[in-house]
Amino acid sequence: MLGQMMTSALTIQSLVDHAARYHAETEVFSVNTGGGVETTNWGDVGANSHRLGDALTKLGLDPQARCATIAWNNRRHLEIYFGVSGAGLVCHTINPRLFPEQLVYIINHAEDKVLFIDATFIPLVAAIRDKCPHLDHIVLMEGRDEAAAAQIDGLIFYDEFIGGGDPDFVWPEFDENSASSLCYTSGTTGNPKGVLYSHRSTVLHAMASNTNDCIGHSAMDVVLPVVPMFHVNAWGTPYACAMVGARMVMPGPGLDGASLVKLIDTYRVTTALGVPTIWLGLLGEADKVGSKLTSLTRTVVGGSACPPSMIAAFREKYDVETIHAWGMTEMSPLGSSNQPLAKHLDLPIEEQHKLRENQGRPPWGVELKIVDDEGNDLPNDAVAQGDLVVRGHWILDSYFLKTRDETLTNGWFDTGDVATLDPNGYLSIKDRSKDIIKSGGEWISSVDLENIAIAHPKLADAAVIGARHAKWDERPILVAVVAEGQTPSQEEILAIFDGQIAKWQIPDVVVFTDALPRNATGKVLKRNLREEFGEVLMDG
Ligand code: ADP
Repeated sequence: MLGQMMTSALTIQSLVDHAARYHAETEVFSVNTGGGVETTNWGDVGANSHRLGDALTKLGLDPQARCATIAWNNRRHLEIYFGVSGAGLVCHTINPRLFPEQLVYIINHAEDKVLFIDATFIPLVAAIRDKCPHLDHIVLMEGRDEAAAAQIDGLIFYDEFIGGGDPDFVWPEFDENSASSLCYTSGTTGNPKGVLYSHRSTVLHAMASNTNDCIGHSAMDVVLPVVPMFHVNAWGTPYACAMVGARMVMPGPGLDGASLVKLIDTYRVTTALGVPTIWLGLLGEADKVGSKLTSLTRTVVGGSACPPSMIAAFREKYDVETIHAWGMTEMSPLGSSNQPLAKHLDLPIEEQHKLRENQGRPPWGVELKIVDDEGNDLPNDAVAQGDLVVRGHWILDSYFLKTRDETLTNGWFDTGDVATLDPNGYLSIKDRSKDIIKSGGEWISSVDLENIAIAHPKLADAAVIGARHAKWDERPILVAVVAEGQTPSQEEILAIFDGQIAKWQIPDVVVFTDALPRNATGKVLKRNLREEFGEVLMDG
């Protein structure tokens, strides 16, 4: 016997329609590509999404045709998220920081038919257009601009394009499992792989992330997604915010500390989301200009390990709670977030703070487990380290144009991370499996060492890699970028590890460098560091 309840498809367009209907006046502030801030609201974003859906439909595209974006976080991009998916097409966000060859590869692999771009990327797109045979329409996310028109043949202007669309356009009906959006992994090794999200997975992900124990946006919040919309859909923030009618501040191209402090203070941002490097810039600037970030209550930090010193700085200097979250492009991305349990409130405050440092526990909808090399389950005892595998409602089943067998092992997705889990499911990421340091048969977590090193006041940035060693196979070495005006010695730097970790885990040497190489999503390229410094312990 079936239950006798109404069913309707879980769709992305239902999110913006809800926001437009019940939160029409709620503002969306958006930094324009050319500077200046535009104020719009969910009512207008909703109407423009319908206009765009209509205009795209009139182009006569096949259902599920890919419409790509190379764009900043701004209100037109928000409208594209909803208008494209709502019209039964697939919104393919592209990371502009990829090499041009990778961009071409991705555009051709996805067979993108339409490409929406911000003005910043006109030269980039003009240079690669001829290499992308499927691309029929390029839309500049602006009003008419003759200078831009001269650079790209047949350039369409967004404002004119949607001007011809109907704000009452009726969305087509389709299965909730239909593809909605596409995002490629950054492809540090090999070609990038596509992750094809569905309407259903996206809506469930938004619901879970809006629970109090996860991220928990609400209509009372002013949300600043610093994490780019080309980086796993800004961690799903646009969908989650539409679901609850939160105010949004879209930061446009300026992600430096000064721009962010100004946005937070001007628009009274309550929640900001981004990767650790972004917050380093923000904390430095807030200190410099004396901002207390008074409106800010929470930062959501993920994408790489959030150093405990950063969590402490937010808490102690600004009374801001940091929610340390972990996830992947393949997971939409949310896999876990660090929120306390009731029983933790009985612990001494220092212990409570310590518990907030790891990557947290999974929300309903995600299962995590760790396994050994043979795939056997390992205990959740906070000690056993193993390969972290996952499954759940918003985790990929197969990569775009690949099979399930090529993607999963026994129905689980292998994250490539090495981790421990405690009895309550709190996750502690030790390393990428390829970055973990194997010293004399023992494993050393580069993340643990980095978390300590980055707190050194004389360092601006730090990474730890395994360097080849004649006796121990590998030993940790610290690659350090010194803070402005500092000239620390190796001994001074290494002293910070004393008493914080076992002596044998302390890096053998410190090599100083000007800047750490990072990939398109801001992660340190350890492979490059190993190529450059991996032999320093073998010389002589
Ligand atoms: P994203 O695009 O969200 O950064 P990617 O798919 O590029 O996701 O990378 C995912 C990887 O990033 C994870 O497998 C993990 O190694 C790393 N990562 C993400 N969040 C964290 C975190 N909070 N702590 C440690 N590593 C993290």
